Amino acid sequence: MESTEPRIRGRLAPSPTGALHLGNARSFLLAWLSVRSRGGSIVLRIEDLDHPKVKPGAAAGIFEDLRWLGLDWDEGPDVGGPCGPYVQSLRRARYREALAALRAKGLAYPCVCSRRDVAEAQSAPHGRDPHSLAYDGHCRGRFASWEEACAALPPGRLPVWRFRAAPGVSAFDDAFLGRRELDLAGELGDFAFARDPDGAGYQLACAVDDAAMGVTEVLRGDDLVDATHCQLALQAALGLPRPRYVHVPLVVAEDGRRLAKRHGDTRLATLRDAGVPAARVVGLLAWWSGLAPFGAECAPADLLADFSLSRVPRAPAVLDARVRAMLGL
Ligand code: GLU
Ligand code: ZN
Repeated sequence: MESTEPRIRGRLAPSPTGALHLGNARSFLLAWLSVRSRGGSIVLRIEDLDHPKVKPGAAAGIFEDLRWLGLDWDEGPDVGGPCGPYVQSLRRARYREALAALRAKGLAYPCVCSRRDVAEAQSAPHGRDPHSLAYDGHCRGRFASWEEACAALPPGRLPVWRFRAAPGVSAFDDAFLGRRELDLAGELGDFAFARDPDGAGYQLACAVDDAAMGVTEVLRGDDLVDATHCQLALQAALGLPRPRYVHVPLVVAEDGRRLAKRHGDTRLATLRDAGVPAARVVGLLAWWSGLAPFGAECAPADLLADFSLSRVPRAPAVLDARVRAMLGL
C-alpha cells in the first residue's frame, strides 16, 4: 500500500495583509489543482512577518475566502498538523536557529544602508526595478552584531540581514517557465533576507518553512522568481532540500499592470457580499487558466480530472471589460 514516491506536498502561503483578491485566488486555485490532481496534500501557512502591513482578522477572512471558493487544506493553523505551528510569527525560534547557522558560516551580516545609499552606490545603469538594485557589500564585516548595527542607526530605524551571495549563475528548472537563471551576485548582490534581530523575514522564513513543512512543490506568482533565487541560495547554505517551483503569470488589468486598488475592488469578500456565486468566480479563474470556457460555473474539484499546467496560458490573465461585466464590477 505504501507508495515509494515521496508524498507530493504543496502549500498556500497567504500574507494576512488584506483580503484575497482575484489575483491571489487564481494563484491559489492553480497551486491547489496542481497538487490535488496528483493526489498530494496541502499545507496552509500564514506569512505574517511583514508587521506594518499585517492586519488583525485578515487571516480569518482568508480562511473564509478560500473555503468559499471550495479550496481545502490538510494542515494549517485552524486544523493543526504535525509540522505546526503554521503561523510564521509563532516560529521565530526556527528562524533564529537558521540565522545562527548562516552566521556561523560567515554568510550573513547586518547592513545599515538605506535603499537610497544602495541606489547611490550604483554606477552602471540597469533595467531592474529599484527594489532589486545590486547591493555593493558596503557593510560586509562592518558590524560584529545586530546590536552594534542598531547602534549605528538613528532610533526607529532597523538594520537588515544580508546574505553573502556567491559569484556565479543561480539556476533552476521551473515547471511552467522552464530554465531560469540569474547572476545573483551581479544582479541583486548580497540580498536582504530579513529586517529583524531573529532573522524573521520573508526570504529566510520561506526557505526554512518550506523545508520544515515538507513542501515538495511551490506554485506562486511569477513576480517571485527573483525571490526564488534568493531562497535557493539560503536553502543550499542551510543544507535544505529544494522543492519543485512553478511560477505562473499574474492577473493584470487592461493597463497591463498587476491588479491593485486603482483597478477597482476585486476582493472575494466584496464579490461574495454582492451576491456573485463562488462557482462563477471559480469559473472565471478556470477560464483565465485555460481550463474552462468563458462564463463557466464550476467548483475547484470539477477541474481536477482535466487539469494540466500545459493548458495555462503563458500570458498574464486580464481583467477586461467582459470580465467586469460578468462580475458586475
Ligand atoms: N506570502 C507571500 C504573499 O502572499 C507569498 C509567498 C510565497 O508564495 O512564497 O505574497
Ligand atoms: Zn550596508
